Amino acid sequence: MAIEEIKDRIGETMARLKSRPAVSFEFFPPKDEAMERTLWQSIERLAPLRPRFVSVTYGADGSTRTRTHNVVTRIQQATSLTAAPHLTCVGASKEEVLDIARNYWAHGIRHIVALRGDPPQGSGGKYVPHPNGFAYAVDLVKGLMSVADFEISVATYPEKHPESPSEEFELENLKAKIDAGADRAITQFFFDPDVFLRFRDRCLAAGITAPIVPGILPITRFPQMLRMAQRCGASVPQWLVDRFDGLDDDVETRRMIAASVAIEQVQHLQKHGVEEFHFYTLNRAELTYAICHTLGVRPQAGNATLEAAS
Ligand SMILES: Cc1cc2nc3c(=O)[nH]c(=O)nc-3n(C[C@H](O)[C@H](O)[C@H](O)COP(=O)(O)OP(=O)(O)OC[C@H]3O[C@@H](n4cnc5c(N)ncnc54)[C@H](O)[C@@H]3O)c2cc1C
Repeated sequence: MAIEEIKDRIGETMARLKSRPAVSFEFFPPKDEAMERTLWQSIERLAPLRPRFVSVTYGADGSTRTRTHNVVTRIQQATSLTAAPHLTCVGASKEEVLDIARNYWAHGIRHIVALRGDPPQGSGGKYVPHPNGFAYAVDLVKGLMSVADFEISVATYPEKHPESPSEEFELENLKAKIDAGADRAITQFFFDPDVFLRFRDRCLAAGITAPIVPGILPITRFPQMLRMAQRCGASVPQWLVDRFDGLDDDVETRRMIAASVAIEQVQHLQKHGVEEFHFYTLNRAELTYAICHTLGVRPQAGNATLEAAS
């Protein structure tokens, strides 16, 4: 190969690496052995994409406490990935929550996704803070900062959290969480990219300069997504309903439509300067991997894979 050609190739690779967006992947703790296998296979498939971090959700009432802990510590210890457990305020005293955080720090975990959490099932849907607990995510962020110098991500809602009285309050709450020490906000999922871009503008206008990372939900099952959207107040545009219409028994086509929807979404965001994406993987790798590929996120050399996957 001629020297000039080699130089061109190096130039192309450098340009691709430079424009490569940062990604993170969210998983949930598995409930049984089959789900556990799927989870670790997905982690193994996605690990070479070198995400900035991978996060593991937490049952609002602490119901997944041990399982979240096990998955997170194993990711942290058996892979070269950075694991970030989610932690909520619900159903525990401040000391109990901070003990979990101290334990994480002792296991080498330096990044936490700090959340209030939803009211547990059977509570009538009304959020009541634990009498000795952190009332809101902002209080948890302050508590975590008093334990150690954690990197902290928090949640935010481009279409407003269902309990927020106004869009202004939403931004005030986000600003309070960032001012308390959070490093970035990850958004609830959304489908219309302009919803995110308008929200990003409003954040900037409100003086919020920390990264606002779009949460991307590749649609694996449409009815499940509808239920989730209804619960969290995310709008589902009619064009999206139309695209999935009539595909209830056609998994293959559904998967292709899901990929094209998410690819259009992330490419639109990338064109508008978005350089970081968080994927709600629902423990499946295929769609997320394909979407990352189109963003220019390709496997990186080095050992990011599991040392002991079973
Ligand atoms: C990226 C992401 C990850 C998530 N992961 C999980 C998870 O692992 N486990 C889980 O259970 N849930 C998870 N959730 C859901 C989340 O817990 C719920 O949306 C929850 O209802 C709000 O959490 P928050 O951290 O945004 O709360 P907060 O920021 O505390 O806000 C909650 C509500 O309280 C209001 N509020 C804040 N401060 C005050 C105040 N002083 N007085 C009155 N109202 C106030 C806010 O406006 C908002 O309406 C996640 C959400 C996102 C976007």
